[in-house]
Amino acid sequence: MSHPSKITVNQPPRVRIAPSPTGDPHIGTAYMGLFNLVFAKKFGGTFILRIEDTDQTRYRKASEDLIMQALRWAGIEWSEGPDVGGPYGPYKQSERLPLYREHAELLLKSGKAYRCFCSPERLDEVRKQQMEKKENPGYDRHCRDLGAEQVASQIAAGKSSVVRLKVPTSGTTQVTDGLRGDIDFENTQQDDLVLLKTDGFPTYHLASVVDDHHMKITHVIRGEEWLPSTPKHVLLYRAFGWEPPQFLHMPLLRNPDRSKISKRKNPTSILYYQRKGILPEAFRNYLGLMGWSMPDEKEKFTTDEMIQSFTWDRMSLGGPVFDIQKLTWLNGKYLHELDPDTYLKHLRSQLFSDDYLKAIIPLVRERVESLEQFIEWTHPFFAGDLNYEGRPIPSKGVDPAVASQFLVQILDRLETLEVWDAHSIHVALNEFVKSSGLKTKDVFMTLRVAVTGTLQSPDLSASMAVLGKEMVRRRLRLASDFLAAQSAPQSPST
Ligand code: GLU
Repeated sequence: MSHPSKITVNQPPRVRIAPSPTGDPHIGTAYMGLFNLVFAKKFGGTFILRIEDTDQTRYRKASEDLIMQALRWAGIEWSEGPDVGGPYGPYKQSERLPLYREHAELLLKSGKAYRCFCSPERLDEVRKQQMEKKENPGYDRHCRDLGAEQVASQIAAGKSSVVRLKVPTSGTTQVTDGLRGDIDFENTQQDDLVLLKTDGFPTYHLASVVDDHHMKITHVIRGEEWLPSTPKHVLLYRAFGWEPPQFLHMPLLRNPDRSKISKRKNPTSILYYQRKGILPEAFRNYLGLMGWSMPDEKEKFTTDEMIQSFTWDRMSLGGPVFDIQKLTWLNGKYLHELDPDTYLKHLRSQLFSDDYLKAIIPLVRERVESLEQFIEWTHPFFAGDLNYEGRPIPSKGVDPAVASQFLVQILDRLETLEVWDAHSIHVALNEFVKSSGLKTKDVFMTLRVAVTGTLQSPDLSASMAVLGKEMVRRRLRLASDFLAAQSAPQSPST
């Protein structure tokens, strides 16, 4: 299907993805990356990676490294970025702080922004009253019209402040979206947004607009969840007197049940697909099918072919479903065509890499007496999803519904681990058992089968560490679903 898009290209485009390093590298980042890259390549432009790490409370250094590794694995390569540099760097927002402060100052001087000294307690109180009166919660613009002297005396008194944008109190702000056309947003629905926080760090809105302008971004192509932010950005461009870039918001990826993609239902980490043995070219091909299609509707195509045929006119807004089974099917088509040397290279790069094998050996060294026993002891490390039918799960005397629940609770507990190693996992599991009031044996035996499919496995925490967070998460989820299905009342036979 083809729908004319609003995107125009008057010069080689400069586009970017701007992930925040707060967790595992997300398939949504690869999805945005692919379409930005393909668009840039189609028109001889530049694809840029910018790291948006100004939210210090959620920042994880490991996450930043993993995002870069995962995108590279997927073959989504940037030509300007934090590690490769470029003419408009640095490409990490935490290294650009003075620039944001200068720009907040500029807006203060031109009267487009103001200092707000309201305390969190006052803001809470305002919000509470608005809720009681059933009004839209938002800042009541208390500090918007403070005189210069009042501001100076607050500063002299050592009061901390944020900088807010003066948003027009009437009229509308129009956003032109590449796929949706013109959308009018009522200004009365916009808060006087914070640009600079009390700690001197910029908000996403300020940093994103300042960087997109200074990095000469021509087209901002990002996920639909950012559409409500775009009128704020347009207002900011206007306040600075800058020409905004073109905007295009891509549809959100969905779970097979059409809900917004989430790790509760689908593995969302790129690392999971890497571990699963999806080939990068199949992964990109599959992402290319998310909302987009080739003119002849063929499903298997290379990224070069996609670039050749690329036009935004072939992008549709219906929420594309990210379905592992379909991805695996497509991956099979790629695998079937590989010559043995390339096949071997893929096997050796992941599942049979030296590093992975070396991590497994210590777990079974004491048990294996001749090398031929190695696979017998280690097969869970080379398998993907396990089949729980006929396996000792849950452990004897445990109600499947209870087991299904505690596996999910363990999953949630493990989710909070900053470090994924045997020791941290061990501590977390023991804490869980203690606080749950469940029997240690019941939990550990059930968990062991959920993770490894068998009761004869090496040390559980060490095995989980080696299997990796993605695989453990996936198996716990599947085992929990299996147990829930077992405990569901049987429908009466008709
Ligand atoms: N840091 C935002 C994110 O995590 C970037 C959104 C944008 O592309 O403007 O996705």
